[in-house]
Amino acid sequence: MIWYPYEQMKTMKDPYRIIDAEGVYLYTEDKKLIDSISSWWSVIHGYRHPKITKAIKDQADKFSHVMLGGLTHDSVIRLADKLKDFLPGDLDYCFFSDSGSVAVEVALKMALQYYVNQNKFERTKILSLTHSYHGDTFKTMEAGDDEDYHFILKAYGVSPNVVHVDTTIEALEEAFDKYHNELNCFIVEPLLQGAGGMRMYDISFLKRARELCDKYDVLLIFDEVATGFGRTGYRFVSDVVLPDIIVLGKALTGGHIGHAATVAGKKVYDGFYSDDPDHALMHGPTFMGNALACSAALASIEAFEEGNYMDRIAHIAELTRETMEGFTAPGIKDVRMMGGCVCIEVEDSSLLKGYQEFAYERGVFARPFLNYLYAMVPYVISDDELLKVLNTMKEWFEEK
Ligand SMILES: *Cc1c(COP(=O)(O)O)cnc(C)c1O
Repeated sequence: MIWYPYEQMKTMKDPYRIIDAEGVYLYTEDKKLIDSISSWWSVIHGYRHPKITKAIKDQADKFSHVMLGGLTHDSVIRLADKLKDFLPGDLDYCFFSDSGSVAVEVALKMALQYYVNQNKFERTKILSLTHSYHGDTFKTMEAGDDEDYHFILKAYGVSPNVVHVDTTIEALEEAFDKYHNELNCFIVEPLLQGAGGMRMYDISFLKRARELCDKYDVLLIFDEVATGFGRTGYRFVSDVVLPDIIVLGKALTGGHIGHAATVAGKKVYDGFYSDDPDHALMHGPTFMGNALACSAALASIEAFEEGNYMDRIAHIAELTRETMEGFTAPGIKDVRMMGGCVCIEVEDSSLLKGYQEFAYERGVFARPFLNYLYAMVPYVISDDELLKVLNTMKEWFEEK
């Protein structure tokens, strides 16, 4: 018996059974569906990408996994070297893990220990955004601010170690003014808050955050698990505002195998680098640096570089804007777009009930949540396929 995610098992409808997948398409026994959400935003090159699939097969012919405790291997070394070049600034020090949530946990642990290693024990608090989502493990739930996912936290109340702030510069300044000497980090999903409702905000907020973090010696963490690899229209938001730690996941392997990375800058790394064994980072997921995953990630980054992806994403953004700008219908609260993401927010979630089946009949897989109907397509999508995704969204409201 499979226990499915985010579902009341008693009332959930049967999931679609996928028997094959290639490019932007998922295949069921009787349908061919464009995946409009890239399997939780990860499959940026589409399914069964030849280069990534080959890399996984070639690695499997050697070995699939060895632990990183006391051992290392070519694929993880090459991936770390690649990320060093590919990521901006001095984000050079890669700690690998098996999922985005764990990679965020590692970032938060790094931030806390960074100060503990300096005997600053008072910096116990995390600053994060309202409506943020950073994963489903416990510390990431606390850092997050999304009751719709994490209402279980009500059982023990709000964490005294997390302060949430709105995405206005005024609120940010106020929070730093009040808490700065208790904060170890400010963690954000930069520009685009995904699971909290595809909320978008301005880069000026992050520029001010960088200034305040510098002023008060607080680490800035960008959780780019969702935004990394082009989703906002920037390669990484970190290209524009450099954080102290970046977290990558989802699209890291092109969505072919689960893996994630917490990549620190030199200042953070140096905060652990010493003769004192107590200053070491005490973390080590069993499958960190998995050889299949590292091979997939390397091939994925190469495909990203070779495929003019930033141009593709700009084109997707432009066609999306042409098609969706100004669209409205009764019950629609907002239509917003950024890079390879578009979201229709409705007044009442009941308005989206039945959309998944409606889209399925038209050959599109979608998964609206709460009040949000959105698309985050694979970047290899054609114009016709993208228009089909967007027009299906519009037709749902027009045919109501
Ligand atoms: C999906 C997501 C995570 C969690 O990643 P998992 O691999 O699902 O654990 C963390 N942060 C953000 C911003 C995400 O979108």
